[in-house]
Amino acid sequence: MVIEHTPRTAVVTGAGSRRGIGRATAHALAAGGYHIAVLDLDEEGARETAREVAARYGVKTSAHCADVTDADAVDAAITEVEAALPPVGVLVNNAGITSPTPFLDVAPAEWDRIFEVNVRGGFLVTHRVAAGMVERGFGRIIFLSSVSAERGGGVFGGVAYSASKAALLGFSRSLARELGPFGVTVNSVAPSLIDTDITQGRLDESHRAALIAGIPMGRLGSVEDVAEVVAFLARPESGYVTGATYDVNGGFHIH
Ligand code: NAP
Repeated sequence: MVIEHTPRTAVVTGAGSRRGIGRATAHALAAGGYHIAVLDLDEEGARETAREVAARYGVKTSAHCADVTDADAVDAAITEVEAALPPVGVLVNNAGITSPTPFLDVAPAEWDRIFEVNVRGGFLVTHRVAAGMVERGFGRIIFLSSVSAERGGGVFGGVAYSASKAALLGFSRSLARELGPFGVTVNSVAPSLIDTDITQGRLDESHRAALIAGIPMGRLGSVEDVAEVVAFLARPESGYVTGATYDVNGGFHIH
């Protein structure tokens, strides 16, 4: 079977974060030949990622300041992407927030915000790009879930985070069923603790050491560990993998 490599754009949300999974993913996708659109709340971070990736891989890039929970902002950003870059072939729903708040202390507003960013954000961006993918008969949609969804927390994020990341597993599996007939695959990646700034300094050294003690590979994950798996799922050649969850956890959770 001959796999067609036409110029396509990969949209990566939350890829502005300097030490984040999204930025590393933008690099890995560009290395695989995709043009890159970065969406982030942090406009300067998004621009920096776009500049870095363009300079290193010679692909086209664009940066867009957008809150993924805002339907109009998402629509405007994707409209700009469509005007500036080749057709969108890949979406990585990476923007996300976490919180370690114990369940009994979670206020409804905190619960709602976590679901807004992690689930509604994924819905809005996916909904906006999926129609074009279906029309063109090609798409690769990847969600950043978490090991917390699979094992019921026990890493850093609390119940709201784990529940929101578990929602993404149902979302991606169900969407995989709907979009498969149109050449669009939908998968999730479930990392364990990756060394980024998402915990905002709230993970203390003893907690970190205890987590590492339970990881057969003996270390925390790196952003590249995750980015390489996302890039694999995004390849045109990965068209028979859909509805799957890829664990990137160093053996921390084996099931
Ligand atoms: P990160 O460094 O904090 O990056 C997340 C990015 O998302 C940030 O650039 C953030 O922007 C952006 N963002 C947050 N809310 C947004 C919104 N409403 N609209 C647009 N962008 C928004 O986090 P990370 O560790 O790389 O995590 C990336 C993804 O992997 C998340 O979905 C996370 O849940 C998942 N994950 C991470 C780990 C881990 O251990 N790190 C493990 C499992 C899963 P600002 O910085 O401007 O807020």
